[in-house]
Amino acid sequence: MPAQGIHHVDPAVGDVDPDGFRIEVFCWPGTRTGRDRKGARDPRPTTFSGMHASSTSALELRGLTKRYDDGTLALDGLDLDVPAGSFFGLLGPNGAGKTTLISSVCNLIRISEGEALVFGRPSYCLDARRQIGISEQEPNLDRFLTVRETLVYHGGYYGMEKAEAEERAEQMMGVFDLRGKRDVRAPKLSGGMKRRLLLARALLHEPRLVILDEPTAGVDVELRHELWRYIRRLHEQGTTILLTTHYLEEAEALCEEIALIGRGEIVARDTAAGLKERYEADTLEQVYLKTVANHLFAEDEAERREPTETEGAEAV
Ligand code: ATP
Repeated sequence: MPAQGIHHVDPAVGDVDPDGFRIEVFCWPGTRTGRDRKGARDPRPTTFSGMHASSTSALELRGLTKRYDDGTLALDGLDLDVPAGSFFGLLGPNGAGKTTLISSVCNLIRISEGEALVFGRPSYCLDARRQIGISEQEPNLDRFLTVRETLVYHGGYYGMEKAEAEERAEQMMGVFDLRGKRDVRAPKLSGGMKRRLLLARALLHEPRLVILDEPTAGVDVELRHELWRYIRRLHEQGTTILLTTHYLEEAEALCEEIALIGRGEIVARDTAAGLKERYEADTLEQVYLKTVANHLFAEDEAERREPTETEGAEAV
């Protein structure tokens, strides 16, 4: 199924990028088409013609804010740059806002305020979406599709010709050792096989930015090493990797830079060595415990909380 979209070209902006190729932006019907920090709909069509072609960031987040319908403020004006070609770790406790950040970038949820640029283009445009491959924390495979169909349909979704998608699906089944399960539907795969299929699907359309939300959660040691070998190779070939994980040693071994997120804000960002030096810690775990660990926030909350009547009476 080819990607559907409205094709906007603004001749006034000029239509040739510095390399001589025309960059045209497809925006999904119903998505925001202009930048508006309050999130209001701007009906103007958007065209970016080489505007950001020299950008060196794979991802730029500016004032990213997400308030869920129930009032929870999950991202609080967050700024972050992920350099193109880097292996970047995003670490934080449960509920810190990692998945919300990723979901915002991938247009799985609506941003309340701020903007997200992917290789210089607004993340809600199809042109930017094509650059992203995501392996989500919760396996979200279609239960009615076989392994092969999952991959081929994904290629179609990203606008690949059927023959190209089929060829690429064969390659990915080979890389992730899924050929033996090609005709098996998702519910009949083991947890590890589902993880492999999620990764194969994320990489099928050869994205330049791969986002991995806890890709090794619940995966055995052997498969974990296998996945990391593959991700490392991918990174060596120039793909930008954004990883969230609760395995701090894993982050330290793999990531060139790490950002620590707590309560919807970036608290610190550096190399693992730089973080340890700054926080006078021997391990990344100690840095984590000194900066973003949930108990710090719990203490904060307790200090800020007004004493109840009984507590006040006891104090007297
Ligand atoms: P984990 O490491 O446990 O996956 P996380 O860092 O990914 O956590 P998020 O899932 O982004 O954290 O959650 C951030 C905050 O937003 C939490 O307080 C969470 O309860 C809240 N939240 C997440 N999804 C929703 C939703 N759909 N509606 C309301 N609140 C939500």
